[in-house]
Amino acid sequence: MNMKEERIKQGEKAALVGAFSIILLSILEALIGLFSSALILVSDALHNLTDSLVLFASWLGLRISRRKPTEKFPFGFYKAENLISLLISIFIVYAAFELLIEGYQRIFVLTEFKMPLEVFGITIVSIIFSYFLAVYLIKKGKKVNSQALIVNGKERRAHVLSGIAILLVVFLSFYKVPYVEGLAVIFFSILVFRDGIISAKDSIFSLLDVSPGKEIEKRVKKEILSVKGVKRIKEIKLRRSGPFILGEAKIEVEEKTDVKKAHKIADLVEEIVKEKFDEIISFSIHFEPFERREIIIAIPTNENKKLNSKVSKEFSRANFFVLVKVDRKAKKVKKVVVKKNKFKEKKIRVGLTVGNFLVNQKVDIVICKEIGGIAFNTLRSNFVEIFRIKKDLTIKESIEKFLKGKLEIVEKPTRKSG
Ligand SMILES: [Zn+2]
Repeated sequence: MNMKEERIKQGEKAALVGAFSIILLSILEALIGLFSSALILVSDALHNLTDSLVLFASWLGLRISRRKPTEKFPFGFYKAENLISLLISIFIVYAAFELLIEGYQRIFVLTEFKMPLEVFGITIVSIIFSYFLAVYLIKKGKKVNSQALIVNGKERRAHVLSGIAILLVVFLSFYKVPYVEGLAVIFFSILVFRDGIISAKDSIFSLLDVSPGKEIEKRVKKEILSVKGVKRIKEIKLRRSGPFILGEAKIEVEEKTDVKKAHKIADLVEEIVKEKFDEIISFSIHFEPFERREIIIAIPTNENKKLNSKVSKEFSRANFFVLVKVDRKAKKVKKVVVKKNKFKEKKIRVGLTVGNFLVNQKVDIVICKEIGGIAFNTLRSNFVEIFRIKKDLTIKESIEKFLKGKLEIVEKPTRKSG
């Protein structure tokens, strides 16, 4: 098992521990609340039920994300999860509404708890339990890098405060202070009602393949563009499915990329997106070449006569490189810059240094007579395409030939070095 799987497994365990312990607390609260007619406890039990559902969803999410991508993808399963959580959300909304009405009626009667000791006891247990569970979830969440666990943990931390509030309400009601319990129940049930509506809405949206939002789309785009060879994203589509996100993107790769390399880039993009975003479990890439109108052509020469210089036999040890910006559509030269080759006297790795220099100059095309292995490979791995002339030509003549499509492309180095 690799590190990531191990990490996710730990997260799963934490989510499950949280979900089960909250359910246990919820059952105890509900029982004591019902038997001692402490409505405030019943409302807290309902809230806890919602929280444990959220943790169950996180657990399921982590669990499924651990599956190998080669396994058959159980789309239907995610939908089932959405459907179940929709049904439970509807139940929670209904129960919260009932509680709201009960709370309203409770305002007009004086509360009398039948089992005051148990009511106090379970509330104190709930506060202490929530504190430790919050610490546990946040710690585990940070360790396994699960946003879901951290959010659940922070929410649980809020229960320490609401627990103290409940304690106060119980205390005041015990001493026959009127209105307090009824008002508190109304307040708490409105909160649960709101959570229920939100979770019902989320489930419905997931069932309808809703987009997961612009924020994550922006982050995914950024990751895609960071992959070498990707020029532009033409289109990106993300949709939610259960706790997961499925997506596809149409990207433009450097125009000189051959199909094999383009496939490699597409695979890399897919891998990176899935690695960086745990929720994204399927991401497919379509690619097409990127066409640019203006390109920069670099040509080695020993003369400093701009376009009238002769192309030299030397490459890495030529005196100059003439960089020509060309408008391919209009077939026109837009700009000529002569760069002195400062590296020509270098004893070792001159091919690598010159290759990198040209890449840094944003060169798209190289036209030369001869080229050595290291310079060739440095340029090619940076998507620079190399063309060759065989006769003695000036830079101007070779560019004209290139624009007419009459130059031969170089598929391998023409000599060992330089
Ligand atoms: Zn909660």
